[in-house]
Amino acid sequence: MSQEQYPIAHIAQILGAKAQLSSPTTIITQLLTDSRTPIDPEASLFFALKAQRDGHQFIASAYQHGLRNFMVSDVVDASAYPDANFLQVDDVLKALQQLAMAHRKTSQLKVIGITGSNGKTIIKEWLYQLLAPDFNIVRSPKSFNSQIGVPLSVWQINASHDLGIFEAGISRKGEMEVLAEIIAPTIGILTNIGEAHAEGFENNKEKLNEKLKLFKDVELLVYSPTYTAGIKEADLPGKAKFSWSTSASQPADLQISFIEPIEGRNYIRAIYQHKEIECLIPFSDKASVENGIICWATLLALGYTPQEADLRLEKLTSVSMRLALINGIENCSVIDDSYSADISSLAIALDFLNQQNQHPKKTLILSDIYESGKTNEVLYAEIAALLAQKNLNRLIGIGPHISAFADLFKLEASFYESTQDFIAQLPAIHFANETILVKGARKFGFERISKLLTQKIHDTVLEINLNAMLGNLQFYRSKLKPGVKTMAMVKAFSYGSGSFEIANLLQYHKVDYLAVAYADEGIALRKAGISLPIMVMSPEPSAFEAMLSYQLEPEIYSAAILKSFMHFLPAAVTDFPIHIKLDTGMHRLGFEAHEMPELIALLKDSAQLKIVSAFTHLVATDDAQHDGFTEQQLASYASLYEELAQGIGYRPIRHALNTSGITRWPTAHFDMVRVGIGLYGFDGALKDNRGLQTVAVLKTTVTQVKELKPGETVGYSRRGLMPNGGKIATVKIGYADGYTRDFGNGVGQMLIHGKLVPTIGSICMDMCMLDVTGLEVNTGDEVIVFNETHDIATLANQIGTIPYEILTNISQRVKRVYFYE
Ligand SMILES: *Cc1c(COP(=O)(O)O)cnc(C)c1O
Repeated sequence: MSQEQYPIAHIAQILGAKAQLSSPTTIITQLLTDSRTPIDPEASLFFALKAQRDGHQFIASAYQHGLRNFMVSDVVDASAYPDANFLQVDDVLKALQQLAMAHRKTSQLKVIGITGSNGKTIIKEWLYQLLAPDFNIVRSPKSFNSQIGVPLSVWQINASHDLGIFEAGISRKGEMEVLAEIIAPTIGILTNIGEAHAEGFENNKEKLNEKLKLFKDVELLVYSPTYTAGIKEADLPGKAKFSWSTSASQPADLQISFIEPIEGRNYIRAIYQHKEIECLIPFSDKASVENGIICWATLLALGYTPQEADLRLEKLTSVSMRLALINGIENCSVIDDSYSADISSLAIALDFLNQQNQHPKKTLILSDIYESGKTNEVLYAEIAALLAQKNLNRLIGIGPHISAFADLFKLEASFYESTQDFIAQLPAIHFANETILVKGARKFGFERISKLLTQKIHDTVLEINLNAMLGNLQFYRSKLKPGVKTMAMVKAFSYGSGSFEIANLLQYHKVDYLAVAYADEGIALRKAGISLPIMVMSPEPSAFEAMLSYQLEPEIYSAAILKSFMHFLPAAVTDFPIHIKLDTGMHRLGFEAHEMPELIALLKDSAQLKIVSAFTHLVATDDAQHDGFTEQQLASYASLYEELAQGIGYRPIRHALNTSGITRWPTAHFDMVRVGIGLYGFDGALKDNRGLQTVAVLKTTVTQVKELKPGETVGYSRRGLMPNGGKIATVKIGYADGYTRDFGNGVGQMLIHGKLVPTIGSICMDMCMLDVTGLEVNTGDEVIVFNETHDIATLANQIGTIPYEILTNISQRVKRVYFYE
């Protein structure tokens, strides 16, 4: 196999790009689509994609960070960037894809291509675990399976690899052809096909046909007839096929006959080549069983014996692709990524570390890295450069290899031979007020380190999925015309989800403004290093001093507050940013028409103030019944705004819409929108919140299980009746956690092992009881209060309220854990 080298001039030739090269021999090793993540800036080629944000905007800052090679579609004035290389093409995304295709063609390795609705990433990671003894494998990092993620994945192939495992995900028609060409799989795996409407397809048939396009040239296809909608085997792609099925009515090569859960695992029997075979899948949940069966089928299809397959499957370990941010000892924050260590996921984790700049000091605990396809000299030099570039303060290296290259690291560093060594010396190592990233290859068992560094978590936790929140932010951004700004509402502890963790995410992803209700919320954000402009909606005179020193921008809603603010402002201050609230029908806060002359008179000649924005709040953007009123509000806003703008002689930022207005009132986006609950996955204007992702999951655990005799009762005042007796589980959540008493006596439900069970008796302060009669439930079992299936909207309905209230009710004593992939 050839090890291709890519001088930039050669890349220009491959793509037929217009080139302005100051050093044509620069060898490109890395492709980047995010200018913030270069591992080796001089050998990186940045693709200025026109996605939600135009990558061309980031060229200047990328150049400042040392990047010198750019793929662009707009004309760029290269003279502003001495010693940079520019390649110009019509479509930057296509160029990225074509380059990956060309690279794929230089290599003869076997490639497994995986697609389907669910399980792609888990199956990819499991096949990696199962096949690693026999192959040198290159695989998609994390769940890189998109139009951008796939080319970046395939680009990693080098001469040392003899097997590639790549996943492909599509969300609409016409996307798979190009992924199929880039991956060019020789073996195909179709995982499953879920509900069509969740993705952008007309129906399941269209979706299936699109997904199958990945496999058009494969030698071997692994699939289940359950998911191929009656297409005859002969009509499916693939020279050879291997099928699996759990249904007796669908004959298959691997015919599953029996699945039995035992002690958190699943014992499975099947008929294969007319013989009964078996395997043990070391997981209990349904999805893992299906993913395990698909891996089993793949091993058999690849020619492994049933005995060998069973041996390997039994050792599968869980694949947590998520980074978790948890409170640590000594006021530290710990980012736990103890599952894997490779250089690309290290770069992602370091980015997350920088994004969540909880504490000024940043420490990395890193193990040796294996299977990088590079020599250790090159690998650790790259890591040292990466750490320097990401402004890390301290490194703790664990393992003989990283220790051997200690000299490369120009920062505070200490090294240990093994995890054991480190743990033995832990009491003497000082940690305080820092963010600690724990990242290790699986065999180093770094979860032991994470456990020692984190505080014991109270068993009730609110898990916040930051990727989902980001997805929701992008959803709304994609509805806006270029140039329309976003203000993110992070009042009330970010709708109960946290404060600076969320604000950090939003700042990193460049929202334009934040808004809080009170000055102290804004001060907390400033103290955590948030530099975005922050609007304070209820500025109290007692907080003016603090607002001035922390650069917080008051919403001015009355002449009285305006006068007292102007009176307070020291004479030397000029152009202090404020926001004017106009009342067009909410009748909460704001200036009404008759107050405008006084407002304008006050503002007119003031050099102290600068009116950054003038806005209104609409009362019923999600409700068609009130559309007439909304139009009236917008008309009255337009006239109040014009009056103000005329009066002060300039035009402040205009904004009117909250979340549910964004999709329903595209003509009223103006200069900015204010998105709140939509970031958390709820939007009254969208049917079933379609297009949004679930952000928050609330979990607790079972403390005790009891059998009750007929006639015994449960809880205070004997409200929980059990005329026939039964079984109850006591769980660790009560009204002091925000699970209000309204949920008592069967009104509320929770999920245990996938089953909905009702509350019984009244909700207590710190606990409540569930009726689990007939179910196998044990102390310590996980209980879901809400998640994506049993969702907050359902809970809100049960007690006659709205999702906002359920979210903001969750008390501060419930620990928040943030996940990031
Ligand atoms: C809370 C709030 C919003 C956000 O509302 P959502 O419905 O959560 O999007 C917008 N504007 C103002 C003035 C608010 O107080």
